[in-house]
Amino acid sequence: NSRDKKYKRILLKLSGEELMGQEGFGIDPKVLDKMALEIGQLVGIGVQVGLVIGGGNLFRGAALSAAGLDRVTGDHMGMLATVMNALAMRDALERCNISSRVMSAIPMSGIVEHYDRRRAIRFLKAGEVVIFSAGTGNPFFTTDSAACLRGIEVQADIVLKATKVDGVYTADPMKDPNAERYTQLSYDEVLDKKLGVMDLTAICLCRDHAMPVRVFKMNKAGALLNIAVGNDEGTLIEE
Ligand code: UDP
Repeated sequence: NSRDKKYKRILLKLSGEELMGQEGFGIDPKVLDKMALEIGQLVGIGVQVGLVIGGGNLFRGAALSAAGLDRVTGDHMGMLATVMNALAMRDALERCNISSRVMSAIPMSGIVEHYDRRRAIRFLKAGEVVIFSAGTGNPFFTTDSAACLRGIEVQADIVLKATKVDGVYTADPMKDPNAERYTQLSYDEVLDKKLGVMDLTAICLCRDHAMPVRVFKMNKAGALLNIAVGNDEGTLIEE
C-alpha cells in the first residue's frame, strides 16, 4: 500500500521565510493553512510530527547586529520571533482540527509550555504535533541546529528540512541553468563541497549522531506526504 508510512516520527524544519508568502515580512495565514493541511496528511497516516519553525520572516540576530544592535540581543529577538511563528502555526493546525502543542526552550509561562523532552515524546506518541520554539534557547545558534538537536533528542527517524528549492544542487539553480540536483549526499560531501544546506553546527550534529536529513520543497503540493510514504523527493543526506 503506497499510503503506508515509512517513518514513525519525523522532525520537520520550516524556515520563517516559508510563512511569509508573497509579502516581504511577517506571516501569511493562507500559507499557514496550506502547511497545516499538509502536516495533517502525515498525522492522518499515523506519522508523529515534531516541528521547528525559524524566525527569519521577522528577525534574525545577524541582520540586526549588522544594523547596529547588540548580537546577543538580536538573537534573543530572533528566538522570540520563532515563538510568534509557532503560535501562528498552532493556531492554523488547531483550525484544521490537528491537536498541537508549543514548547519553548525559554520559559514563557502563560503563553507556551517549557520544553521538556520526556513530555514532548509523550505528546508525540499521543499523536499531537509538537512545535519546538525559541530555537536552542541560546544565542549564536540557528533553528537548523535546533531542529537537528530536537530531532536527535526525541529520536525522530529523520529531519526534513523544507527549502525554497527542491533539494541540494551542484550550483544555485536560480542562477545556473546547468545546476543538477543531488539525490543523495554524505555529511562529509556536504561539508567538503561547502554546499551550505545547513550551518556547520547542524550538519556536524547530525553526522555525529547519524541523523539523516532530507532537503525538499515544502511549497510543492504533496511533497511532504510523498516523503512520508518513502518516495524519492529532494536530496537525502546520510552516512
Ligand atoms: N536564534 C538563536 N538561537 C537559536 C535559534 C535561533 O539565537 O538556537 C535566533 C538567531 O538570531 C536567528 C533567529 O533566531 O537568526 C531566527 O532563526 P533562523 O535564522 O534560524 O530562522 P530561519 O532562517 O529558519 O527562518
